[in-house]
Amino acid sequence: MTTNLLDFDLDAMAAFCERLGEKRFRATQLFRWIHQRGAADFDQMSDLAKSLREKLKGCAHVTGLQAISEHASADGTVKWLFDVGGGNAVETVFIPEDDRGTLCISSQAGCAVGCRFCSTGHQGFSRNLTAGEIIAQLWHAEHVLRQRRGDGERVISNVVMMGMGEPLQNYSALVPALRTMLDDHGYGLSRRRVTVSTSGVVPMMDRLGADCPVALAVSLHAPNDDLRDNLVPLNRKYPLHELLAACRRYLEHAPRDFITFEYCMLDGVNDQPEHARQLIALVGRKAADGGVPCKFNLIPFNPFPASGLRRSPAAAVTAFAKLLSDAGIVTTVRKTRGDDIDAACGQLAGDVKDRTRVHERMAKLRVIEIKPIN
Ligand code: SAH
Ligand code: SF4
Repeated sequence: MTTNLLDFDLDAMAAFCERLGEKRFRATQLFRWIHQRGAADFDQMSDLAKSLREKLKGCAHVTGLQAISEHASADGTVKWLFDVGGGNAVETVFIPEDDRGTLCISSQAGCAVGCRFCSTGHQGFSRNLTAGEIIAQLWHAEHVLRQRRGDGERVISNVVMMGMGEPLQNYSALVPALRTMLDDHGYGLSRRRVTVSTSGVVPMMDRLGADCPVALAVSLHAPNDDLRDNLVPLNRKYPLHELLAACRRYLEHAPRDFITFEYCMLDGVNDQPEHARQLIALVGRKAADGGVPCKFNLIPFNPFPASGLRRSPAAAVTAFAKLLSDAGIVTTVRKTRGDDIDAACGQLAGDVKDRTRVHERMAKLRVIEIKPIN
């Protein structure tokens, strides 16, 4: 079996080249061809010696993910469904805004955390993605969109690890993928523009802070342990006081001086004024008194039938946001994007195992032709 070079960050690529008897700058050239130019064919890599290209053909390949489908929403959002084998698929979503282009990337097929309000959680865990499969989502999206625009300009400026899966439960694949995103010879994204979202895997938050600090979003969803135990089962292992202490430790390394708390607004469950008051008491104090410098992102729940939950009414969301803001906590309400293609957060690859339904749903939508990137 030959090696997929998408699995490597630059250091691993250098080690690989060294094993082939090649200097580090060859690894840099190779890395730039793959990630900056979107090349998969060694013959295209014109500044590599012919002998090296032949050597590479014998022991390596650059293989992205197979896109099962691509759908574009009226608001410019693009969603890809990628086949990862064994009947599993993962989703990647591109969200264009005036001043940035954000890609939402998956880290696992399914998820073992099993949050009540999350359709991925309801599917259970299938498997971890490899580093190559994580970075392939960016590789594919960046180069397909760039080619389509035709101006050679970079398209994706921000990455959020908010697709399917819990990134911190796939740490060993996550870190090389993050490093490739950050590398100047890769995608050159700034640490502030790469966000890992976690349901609160405390020990791995510490490791991420030490190994590869990027912006951190923490899925809070509840202001007390009783409720959070129920909504985010991982809370039974890492309760709120441990989670918040880990947030404070993370901030010592983080590229930003705040944590983003995500809070999915569930009608009658966690959206009452009392919950906002508890949140303010929990995090709104000075860090020295147990608080956490933070911003809140309130996410209107995207309902799906098996959840048995409802989206909070707009008035409840507004009132909740006002209570937090009045207490001095910067609070935003996430716009739902790509609603017409089910690309809104938490809807990712709704029924991955049930391809027929995915296809049925998608058949109703506008489909763009998928072009090969080379
Ligand atoms: N596993 C990580 C990252 C993926 S989920 C995490 O949980 O943080 C990304 C965000 O979408 C999380 O904040 C998650 O709580 C939220 N989310 C999941 N299901 C949702 C739904 N049905 N409606 C709205 N937000 C949802
Ligand atoms: Fe997993 Fe995140 Fe969904 Fe929870 S919200 S089940 S951690 S993907």
